[in-house]
Amino acid sequence: MKNSQLNEIVTEFCPYCEKSTKTLHIVKDTIITIKGEKFEVPCEYYYCTICKEDYDTSKSKYDPIALAMEKYNKIHGTNLGNELVIE
Ligand SMILES: [Zn+2]
Repeated sequence: MKNSQLNEIVTEFCPYCEKSTKTLHIVKDTIITIKGEKFEVPCEYYYCTICKEDYDTSKSKYDPIALAMEKYNKIHGTNLGNELVIE
């Protein structure tokens, strides 16, 4: 999963421009720390080519924190839930 990055140009509604714009859909790995352990998981965001702002999307198919939690649980045989405090 090293440097796995997917960029494609899509038309999305930009909250800054307040209209549909040509937007870069970016999927890249990010580091989430759970109880002092680092996990690399994919996260997804949009980068507007008009205003040069990036923003999250609620229709993201990746939930980085949930994915990191899943990895943590698998390694430690635990069943931590979303109430876990992320540091
Ligand atoms: Zn924009």
